[in-house]
Formats: sequence, structure tokens, C-alpha cells
Amino acid sequence: MYAIQRMAIVDADPDRRRPVNVGQGVDMTASELREALAHSDARNRLLFAGSPVAMIVFDSENLRVVEINAACTGILGYSAEQWLGQPLGFGVEVRQGEALRSLAREQGAHPDSAVHTGRLRWQHNDGHWLESEGTVRRFGAPGCRAQILLLQDASARRRNEEHLRLLAKEHRQQIELTEHYDALTGLPDRAQFSERIRQGFAQANQTGCSIAVCYLDIDAFGALNASHGREVGDHLLINIAECLRACLRGGDTLARIGSDEFALLVVGIKKEGEIAQFLRDLKERLSEPFVSDTLTLSLSASIGVTIYPHDDADPDTLLRHADQAMMLAKQAGPGRHRRYDPENDRRVRAQRENVEVMRTALARREFILYYQPKVDLKRRQVVGAEALIRWQHPERGVLPPGAFLPAIENSQLIVDLGYWVIDEALTQMDRWRAGGLSLAVSVNIAARQLLDPDFVSRLRELLAAHPGTGAGQLEIEILESSKLENFSKVEQIIVACRELGIGFSLDDFGTGYSSLTYLRRLSADTLKIDQSFVSQMLDDSGDKAIVSGVIGLAGAFQRKVIAEGVETIAHAQSLMALGCVLAQGYGIARPMPPAAMPGWVAAWPDAAWMAVGE
Ligand code: C2E
Ligand code: CA
Ligand code: CA
Repeated sequence: MYAIQRMAIVDADPDRRRPVNVGQGVDMTASELREALAHSDARNRLLFAGSPVAMIVFDSENLRVVEINAACTGILGYSAEQWLGQPLGFGVEVRQGEALRSLAREQGAHPDSAVHTGRLRWQHNDGHWLESEGTVRRFGAPGCRAQILLLQDASARRRNEEHLRLLAKEHRQQIELTEHYDALTGLPDRAQFSERIRQGFAQANQTGCSIAVCYLDIDAFGALNASHGREVGDHLLINIAECLRACLRGGDTLARIGSDEFALLVVGIKKEGEIAQFLRDLKERLSEPFVSDTLTLSLSASIGVTIYPHDDADPDTLLRHADQAMMLAKQAGPGRHRRYDPENDRRVRAQRENVEVMRTALARREFILYYQPKVDLKRRQVVGAEALIRWQHPERGVLPPGAFLPAIENSQLIVDLGYWVIDEALTQMDRWRAGGLSLAVSVNIAARQLLDPDFVSRLRELLAAHPGTGAGQLEIEILESSKLENFSKVEQIIVACRELGIGFSLDDFGTGYSSLTYLRRLSADTLKIDQSFVSQMLDDSGDKAIVSGVIGLAGAFQRKVIAEGVETIAHAQSLMALGCVLAQGYGIARPMPPAAMPGWVAAWPDAAWMAVGE
């Protein structure tokens, strides 16, 4: 603590060597000072004293200095005794002193504001001039008559910036960052933090230890700021900084890198579990309530962590990775921490690249549709065909959907590609029709596409562009029925599509847990028995029972039923005996390019298929 004095003021004489405010000391009552500082708790005072930022606390009523910190005496060269009791503006160029006092009065009238002073010229005790920028804000709890002026040494910063620019040009890696501190908390800023990480690398490489970069974001800080005011927010941040600092071990670094965002560098990690324990301790410390005389606040933080050399990236990237992990932690709820996973990140990036490659392939028209016939075994007629997508890859040849669709399943591309499939199928139907073949076609639609808000209107547009397609000629096979949760929405879509003359079938029926619910809730026209049951039905009585059960259900619910995966005539005969006459499968025909279809339709059935069902 500094000696408590009041200084008598002698206004500066402009002709004197130093045209600044100076004075002599007189005692100030202890109660006045106590009032001014009552709301600054011990931790705050500690921060105040130790901060590298010059701070001047003054009495709002008479605008006189009641306390300054060591940084202030250091930077301006006047002793504490010289400072205390001086009017605000002591040390500042005379004309600016008056301006500063009126700024302070203005801020005092709007205590929740923070007023920028602009550039101030200060004269050091030894006579040389310095420039600074400052901020005036309330100090202590509402109602307290103290304000604070926080100073940044602008001339040093400018020199430093200039110096940095030069250094950066010549020796990119060896930048010395000496004065990059956050004005509020006095903590290192982002640039200095990066430099500390760089130093951490050297140490980690030498000792074989790991280092952790943590990104910490206070939960709901914006709301706290809004409800308690900015000054409480600032105080809280100072306290949080102090609390976090207390958790550090020697060699660790704490930085403030955003309004309520802090970064921690933890060095010398020897064991896997060490960092998790560190974070648990940190969160526990942070959860202890922050108490002032008017408020008690409980806090939590979301933390993302990445560990070098497991994550072998440059300092800025490490910080970005920790930030990404923090976002994931925050999504999971307040007070969580999450470790960045380079493997997962690589996967996500590869996935993103895949999507881009396929988007290009779509633009280059590399996708094509094959068609697999569907037949009526009893009437010996071709009743339609299923469109099945293929990728005519420039290097790898024709790829089946299993080789590329999974990579875009969760992206918008599956929807865009789906519209291309519908358009292409309708165009193909026009071409066949022009050649004398009228064939119904079914397309496979992913759940995500069915639930696209534009689905029905897009479908209407596509149909309008192909007026030759009659009602009942286009059918939709709903895939991944397990992803359909909102039955009433899906049912609405089915009903709207039916008005457009489009039929629906439930693909892979019997494989999902809730097939029976679909059947009851969705008015699809057709059930498509999954090929896994069909292909085994001749050898496995269980599968045969399922096939028979689905056929029975279809009858009871008055739906059509089709079997897929019909690989032999024996399968077809068995299905017919159970009452299923619609079939599709390799035994009838493999999926084929569209040009092959008219010839195939003309030739079917051959003698062997003619004999089925006789
Ligand atoms: P799916 O809708 O169940 O289509 C039937 C799949 O079974 C097709 O494979 C077909 O070639 C194959 N298949 C047909 N008959 C037989 C048979 O007798 N035995 C065997 N073992 N397999 C048979 P493909 O063409 O590889 O398609 C696989 C899946 O890819 C489709 O399963 C469908 O889920 C999806 N798919 C195909 N085209 C599209 C499309 O345009 N859009 C979307 N979203 N998915 C599609
Ligand atoms: Ca299908
Ligand atoms: Ca299927």
C-alpha cells in the first residue's frame, strides 16, 4: 500500500520547464480512501498492484488521485507520494489535463460506460515526453465514488510495432514480443501467447514432455455482462484471470485472447492423465463463487485442449484446434472440456474433400443411371424398372453407389444429387417413350431429401418439365426408413406427392426396428421385401417366415408387395407360392444401361421364365 496523502495543488505555469500539474502532499482521511477502494477485493488489489498496465484510481467527486499502481510509477517516474492527492491530469500536458477531467466527469455521469481518452501527452519525471492512450471507467461497485484511468503506453507500443514490423520482415521466427499485454487483465495477448507456444516446442522436444494448449471460454458471459453491466463484467474478468493464474505451474502461460476467452499453455506434461486432472482442478476452482458486496456469481467455462506433439501443428493452428474442440465442448453443454482429435479432423477434412470432388463430378455429368427391371411373374409382364445410380469415374471406371454415396449421405449434395436423379429418370422415360417403350420408373430417395422443405414443389416443377409422364409412372422408394422420425410430416409429403400422381414404396422392408409402425402410419402403396430375407428364404426357415409374414401384412393392409434379390427361378417359384407375384433381382436381370432396356423388355420372358408359375 502506498502512503495515504493529500497533495495541495499548484497549477502549472506554462512558462516552466515542465508545463504539467505538480504539487505537495497533505494527508487524506483514511475513510475517504476506504470508500473509494472498498469494493475492490484482495485479489483485485493484488492484480492492480502487479499489473504491467499503468492504473490511476481517482475520486469521482473531486477528481483527485487516491491510488496508483507500480506500473504507473515505473512508466512516468513520479513516486507514489508525488501522485497521491493530485488532480486527475497530473503529469499530462496542461491543456489535455482539463480535457481529461471533463471526460472523467462525463464518464462519472454514465457509470456503465467506458470513455476513451484518445492520445495523451505525458511528461516523465526526468523531462522527456511520452504518449499514451487511456480508458476511464467506474472503479468498484455501483455507487462507489471512484473511477479508474487505465493507460497504455502508446509511444512504446508504436515503437514496438515498428520494431516488430522490421523484425518480422528480416527474421520471421525470431520476433520478440515484449509488450503485448491485454489492457484490462495485464495478461499476454494472442501474439505473445503464440511466441510462448513456440518456446514450449523447443522445451518439449528437448525433454520429451508434451505441452497442452487450452482454449477457455466463459459460459454465458454475454448474458452476465448484459444483466450486471460492463463494469461488473470487467471486474469478473480480472478475477477470473487471477483465479486461472493461480492454477498455473511454473513455466505455464495464461493469455487473454478475446473478450471472455483465455488461452492456457501447460508445459512439461509427462503422463496422459495429467492434463485431464489439471482441467478438472481448474474447473473446480472456477466454479467457486465470485463474491463482491452486491453480487455472488457462479461461473463455468467450456474448454478445448490440444496436445503437442500428438497434434504436430504450428502455434496458431494449435490454438485454432483448441478453439474447435472448445466449440464442440460448448455444444455438449456448459462446463465441459473436449480434446481435439487430429484423426477425426483428418476424417472430416477428407469427407469435405470427397463432397467437393463429387460436386464437380455432378457438374461434369459423370453420374449415370442404370435400370433394373421389375416384373409380374404371374402375368409375365415387365411392370417397370428401378433407377440405380452409378459413377462413371474417369480413372476408376463405373462405381456402384456403395462406393460413393456414404461419403455424401450427411451433406446437402445427397439432396442435390437426388434432384438430378429424378430429372434424369424422367428424361430417360421421355426417350424410351419416343422409341415406343412406356415404362414406369422408381427412384431411390434418401430420408434427408424427402424432408427437404422444397421437395414437393421441386418435384412439381420437374414433372411439369416432362409433361409426357403419366400418373403412376414415377415412383419413389423411401430409403433408410429408420431415419424417418416425424411420421406425420412424411405422411403429409406422401399425400401431397400422391396428388401429383407419384407412388411410394417402403424399401428394405423388414430391416428396421419399426417397420410395423411405418406400415401403420405411412400410406405407402408398396412394401419392398428386403433382399437379405429373399436371398436366404430357400435355406433359412426363419427368413422364409419373414417373407411370408410381410406378404401377409401387405394383404391385410391392402398394399402391393414386391420381392427384391430374386436370384434364381427357384426363388421366384417359392415367392409365387407364398402369394408374391412382383419381383426384381439378378435372376431376372442385372441393372443395365438405359440403351439395353428396350431390347431386354422385348425378349422377356424367355422359355425358363415362361415356365415359372405354371
Ligand atoms: P436398393 O435400393 O436396395 O437397391 C437394390 C440393390 O440391390 C442394388 O444395388 C441392386 O443392384 C442390388 N440387387 C438387385 N438385385 C439383386 C440380386 O438379385 N442380388 C443381389 N445380391 N443384389 C441385387 P446397387 O445398385 O449397388 O445400389 C445399392 C444401394 O444404393 C441401393 O439399394 C440404394 O439404397 C442406393 N442407391 C442406388 N441408387 C440410388 C440413388 O439414385 N439415390 C440414392 N439416394 N440411393 C441410391
Ligand atoms: Ca431401392
Ligand atoms: Ca432394397
